[in-house]
Amino acid sequence: MDFRVGFGYDSHRFAPGRPLVIGGVVVPYELGLAAHSDGDVLIHAVCDALLGAAGLKDIGTWFPDTDDTYKNADSTLLLAKVVEVIKERGWQVNNLDCTLVLERPKMKPHIDNIILKLSQLLDVSSENIAVKAKTNEKMGFTGAGEGIAAVVAVTLRKPF
Ligand code: MG
Repeated sequence: MDFRVGFGYDSHRFAPGRPLVIGGVVVPYELGLAAHSDGDVLIHAVCDALLGAAGLKDIGTWFPDTDDTYKNADSTLLLAKVVEVIKERGWQVNNLDCTLVLERPKMKPHIDNIILKLSQLLDVSSENIAVKAKTNEKMGFTGAGEGIAAVVAVTLRKPF
């Protein structure tokens, strides 16, 4: 049995005229997140955590933002590719622990939907996935409501 831990971080700035997508779930809000892709800050951090755990560099290496293939891309498709790549190397996701940092919108009504979405995308029981959201006590860019940050820890296991 082989185990790995991975860590991911991402942040995106709020921008008008875009849907807010977090963890593959559309969250009703007057602003979305600026990005080359759909700006799904949580999915991007999950991708980086998985790639890091598997020793496979980072999301920018696999999906360059200079490549128009990924313009406004549904980030869940990027995550599906990352999951495929780590599975090809024999890794299974053991558990995932995520924290979103934002002042608004309130995430509580959406957390269970995000956990369900991640469990489907990662092929992992929802009991092994945690998604938490907290404010930054009005400090820094998240506290000022300029954007959202996400941090993610993951463990992978290889049975043999
Ligand atoms: Mg990103």
